[in-house]
Amino acid sequence: MKPGRDTIEQRMRTFNAACARLGIKITHQRMEIFRAVISTEEHPDAETIHRWVKKRIPTISLDTVYRNLRLLAETDLIAIVGMSQENLRFDGNAHPHHHFVCVRCGMIRDFASNAPDSLQTPKTARVFGEPLSVHLEVKGICTGCRGDVRR
Ligand SMILES: [Zn+2]
Ligand SMILES: [Zn+2]
Repeated sequence: MKPGRDTIEQRMRTFNAACARLGIKITHQRMEIFRAVISTEEHPDAETIHRWVKKRIPTISLDTVYRNLRLLAETDLIAIVGMSQENLRFDGNAHPHHHFVCVRCGMIRDFASNAPDSLQTPKTARVFGEPLSVHLEVKGICTGCRGDVRR
């Protein structure tokens, strides 16, 4: 579901608090980039976010957008998800949730489920580092793409 005004305001408050806590300077650019990520359910890539932010800050470069996204992704404010279509995608939903990923068009949407909460982090994953969370990725063909097939 597209984030409502309340959700966006809540996420902006979290952003301000987290930046203060972590010593991240709140610049106009950084704030607009964050707002773009958290105002959508689309899990956009950096190019898409750049296109949106440019409407408010015409001079902003893709490189600046990308560097800020990487910085924010090092906090818990946004997350990097899947690498569908070769691009990193960014997620503004900081609450635990799972993803439906369309293998055809790259659509990513959030869904909630209790099922994976009972999953323990597999020991075999610890070989690579300290696990932070477990999340479920359901791959499929989205309703939009399935509609195309039937025609
Ligand atoms: Zn699709
Ligand atoms: Zn998500």
